Amino acid sequence: MRAIIHVDMDAFFASVEQHDDPALRGRPVMVGGGSHRGVVAAASYEARQFGVRSAMPGAVARRLCPQGVFVKSRFARYREVSAEIFTIFRRYTDLVEGLSLDEAFLDVSEAVRPERGLEQIGRAIKRDIGRVCGLTASVGMAHNKLLAKLASDYDKPDGFTLVRFEDTRRFLDPLPIRRLPGIGPRSADKLHDAGIYTLGQLRRTPSELLFELFGATGLEFARRAAGKDERPVKSTRVRRSISQENTFSQDHTSLASLRPVLQAQSEQVAETLVRKQLYARTVTLKLRSSRFSTLTRSLSLNGYTQSADRISATAFELLENWAEWRSGFAVRLLGVGVSGLEAQPALETILDENQGCNQPSADGGGH
Ligand SMILES: [Mg+2]
Repeated sequence: MRAIIHVDMDAFFASVEQHDDPALRGRPVMVGGGSHRGVVAAASYEARQFGVRSAMPGAVARRLCPQGVFVKSRFARYREVSAEIFTIFRRYTDLVEGLSLDEAFLDVSEAVRPERGLEQIGRAIKRDIGRVCGLTASVGMAHNKLLAKLASDYDKPDGFTLVRFEDTRRFLDPLPIRRLPGIGPRSADKLHDAGIYTLGQLRRTPSELLFELFGATGLEFARRAAGKDERPVKSTRVRRSISQENTFSQDHTSLASLRPVLQAQSEQVAETLVRKQLYARTVTLKLRSSRFSTLTRSLSLNGYTQSADRISATAFELLENWAEWRSGFAVRLLGVGVSGLEAQPALETILDENQGCNQPSADGGGH
């Protein structure tokens, strides 16, 4: 069984503003929406008490909450705090699926120990966020994504809800059907007309009726109402490097014999770059000689590449520079890596354009 955590920061943008400016604490704060035609990007919980919601026109928010404070959004700052939060997540697992700047699923199955269960990990993450960022998060824990998300929403703000497997029905059954992701206002109306208001009622509804109302989607609704969800947490981490290395059964003692190894490794690295539609800026050579420990040497290019030949030539240059200082050497391990990866570097920074087969098409419009 999986161990899934859903973390959702409370009124994220507004909370960051209140954190950074103590004068805003305890007051109704609206981020964005201050200009003539603007829309509220986020509202503090104090503002929500007046009925202010995100995506509401600023003029409406002003009418509902005349004493509210409008502040300009500072996305660079929100991204900075977001990066801190995601760094905390990755202390606990590599399987982090970001849904937005302030919301993510974590699969912590591997981190669960007899002495440190799901609940302790959730508690630790919540505590870390408080210590590092000075903000509150709502944390939901369960054996799948659906339940973890419903759990984080259950007791918001500053929520902390664990749904144990055996408590699935007890947790879900009383919830209104609108809470279920996928059930929008129109589906809800249809269900209400059929006398179905809670997830418990939905779960017990005959599948013939659900099929009649919604087709195959109706059967999916019933599965979800029963708390079934097998979707895996998909890591959204951007790859930082790609590399290939080989350990030899016998030491290599000449540059000439190492050159084809570098070429083959570079071709594999370049193939991965093309497949992932990434470009690299930095080439790293890794080697271990029988007398010395492992060392790496890196060189940054003056642009981005996907070319095996350029990667190989750069790695060989690094190897030659290293070998120059040695009268003799015996290489046991050799590897090539690339980093400084970018999916869409500016066209003028892409090297080797004529060689690539997977260059992004020039759209003429720029962006
Ligand atoms: Mg949030």
